[in-house]
Parts: sequence; C-alpha cells; structure tokens
Amino acid sequence: MRIPGKQIILSAVIAIRIIPLGAVDNSVLNYLKENLSRIFNAQVYIGKREPLPAYAYSKARGQYASRDILNYLARTKEVQEEKVLAVINKDIHAGRFNFVFGQAGPPSGVSIISLFRLYPSYYHLPGDKDLLRKRALKEAVHEIGHLFNLGHCPEPVCVMHFSNTISDTDKKDYQFCAKCQRNLVDK
Ligand SMILES: [Zn+2]
Ligand SMILES: [Zn+2]
Repeated sequence: MRIPGKQIILSAVIAIRIIPLGAVDNSVLNYLKENLSRIFNAQVYIGKREPLPAYAYSKARGQYASRDILNYLARTKEVQEEKVLAVINKDIHAGRFNFVFGQAGPPSGVSIISLFRLYPSYYHLPGDKDLLRKRALKEAVHEIGHLFNLGHCPEPVCVMHFSNTISDTDKKDYQFCAKCQRNLVDK
C-alpha cells in the first residue's frame, strides 16, 4: 500500500458509519465525517441517532460500559464490511480503567468514542468548540486505527499513542506516525 504525502490510501474504499448515541453536537459529527473521509479515503455516513444505551448504564458508577455498547453495535451491525464509530456524550468505562476516551472491537469492526472528557469545561476551562472537535477527531482516528489492527504506539505524537489523560490527547496529532502508516492493514 502506497501512502502519498500524509493521506492514507487504503487499497479499497472503506465505509465508516458514525452512529450518534443520544444527543451529540452536529458540528462534531460533521467535522468527524469530513475529516475521517479525507484521512481514510473513506465513504463516511452519519447514521440514524440511537437512544442512550440504557442496557450499558451503571447507576452506581454513573457511567456506561463501553464493552456492552460494542457488543450491541456488533449484534445490530447491518453492513458487515462497514466500520462503525459510535459517538456518545456520556462518560464510559472499560475493564480495569475507571474511564476511557474510547474503545474498539477489531474483530467486529465496531468502535466508540466518548466526548464527555473532551470538553474543556470538564476541566473547568472556557468552552472551545474547535479544541473539542480536534480532540474528538484524534480519538476517532485512534479507535478506527485499532479496527485496522493497529496497536498502541510508543511515539507520543502518533495518533495511536495511548491517551491516559487529556494532555496525552492534546500532545498527539490526528495522523499516524510513519511506522503505524506502514502497519495499517486494509481489512
Ligand atoms: Zn487505544
Ligand atoms: Zn505510531
């Protein structure tokens, strides 16, 4: 697979379906659509908004279990070849982590990102839509990277670097480093 410049050209055109879960800012969804299509050379659709996943909610934690949501997305996926990216405004958690920015299930091609901790207001900072959108794009490219079987990258500026805190997200780019670009497998 040849990668001219910074754009990633996969050997086949892929389709990505963005599924909003509950209320999600349209400007974030449209920003993701536009940029994911450019970055992955993909057909990107914004699917029908689904209700908040009550089945995944833990009242005790006040969070949604992302694994339960991924299982649901895998079960209800209509087009098997598509990659699914769910976007939720609520806080999510997974496994041993008390929260996650996102999670992916590579075998079924489904992923999720949470905007909850991407809002500057979460850190008691003034609202900044542009920053929110950029953070969302980084997390989205990261999870879709996992759907192409990329693991975490030690390079702090690579989009596949693991974000433990929001400053990790802010430090990294929305692009893959040269090594991850080479490892990007069209599946
Ligand atoms: Zn990751
Ligand atoms: Zn990398």
